[in-house]
Amino acid sequence: MKKTVLEIDLKALEHNFNIISSKLNSKTKFMAIVKANGYGSNGTEVAKRLAAMGVDYFAVAFALEGIALRKSGIKTPILVLLPQVESIKEIVKYDLEPSLYSFYFLENFIDHLSSNEIRNYPCHLKINTGLNRVGFNEKEAKRAVNKIKNSDSIQLAGVYSHLAATDDLHQSKFTLSQINLFKKISSDVKSKLSCNPILHMSNTSAIYNYPECEFDMVRSGIGLYGYNNELNKELRPVHTLRSIIAQIINAKMGDSIGYNRAFICEEKTKVGVIPLGHADGISRLFSSNAYIIVNGKKAKVLGNICMDVFMVNLNGIDVHEGHEVVIFDRNNNAEDYAKSVGTISYEILTNLSERIERKIIG
Ligand SMILES: *Cc1c(COP(=O)(O)O)cnc(C)c1O
Repeated sequence: MKKTVLEIDLKALEHNFNIISSKLNSKTKFMAIVKANGYGSNGTEVAKRLAAMGVDYFAVAFALEGIALRKSGIKTPILVLLPQVESIKEIVKYDLEPSLYSFYFLENFIDHLSSNEIRNYPCHLKINTGLNRVGFNEKEAKRAVNKIKNSDSIQLAGVYSHLAATDDLHQSKFTLSQINLFKKISSDVKSKLSCNPILHMSNTSAIYNYPECEFDMVRSGIGLYGYNNELNKELRPVHTLRSIIAQIINAKMGDSIGYNRAFICEEKTKVGVIPLGHADGISRLFSSNAYIIVNGKKAKVLGNICMDVFMVNLNGIDVHEGHEVVIFDRNNNAEDYAKSVGTISYEILTNLSERIERKIIG
């Protein structure tokens, strides 16, 4: 039966993992980023496949996402990038490794560990080298390290930082300054604590653009799903979003289409109704702007995207009700779609709602 379905191609995932791994030194560890349900795919299926392929680490944003992986049987270490104080108990219960990024979190975490007499709990210290999102700057890192040193609760499994503009080579001076600052701070941390944590800094586009930033481990998200900001020809998109023509409406010249009459037909128009809307993650910015693929041809969106449906122009395309359509796939990929509405593939993929059925292939 044809219907709206998001295909998740695990063979493409394997291919991308192998390609990205082949760029790394043989000793470099690989952390797969599976936050936001594996960039809108299916986080547990993606993680299971990568675990079977020997990935070293996973990262998620929040504890809940890590708990879901543990409940599905994942035994690989899991870094929680943005753990909240409210989830500290669960983090320990499910053997998740938190990022230590603020004094608020650090102090509460140490309190929890020491009151439960837990020692040497693995954590990753987050250094802010200029993204100014989360983490300790150089001065704060010294204070954080003192707190860690004065308690025996924490063992640093990792020290890491995140780059601000790895996909923009015009910013390479800034990027190199971030890398150098990270080298300096991380070596201070290591000598102060006499430990040997995993250093990690690269995201996908740093793996491509800044090989000098490999350190001990890389963190790849978007590349595993087939993108590297730009569509990267050697990678393969994992997500394919298909739907169907639910109905065909034959509109006359002068008829309006959809809410607020945002489109007026300039000629007789064969209008296809697609059962996908902004509640499914098809942004309203897509209105009157973008196109989908029907029978290999472009069908332009007509008028405003509704909550559950949108309409397209089928003039000149030989199709019937029930015919399959492609929103994005390997050839007409999510990055092109993203560009047509002024955003990036990350947002398109992670916006795909729970309501869309996921079908695992490969
Ligand atoms: C999401 C995230 C990544 C992954 O970045 P990609 O560009 O998808 O490879 C890496 N590190 C951190 C800290 C992140 O939040």
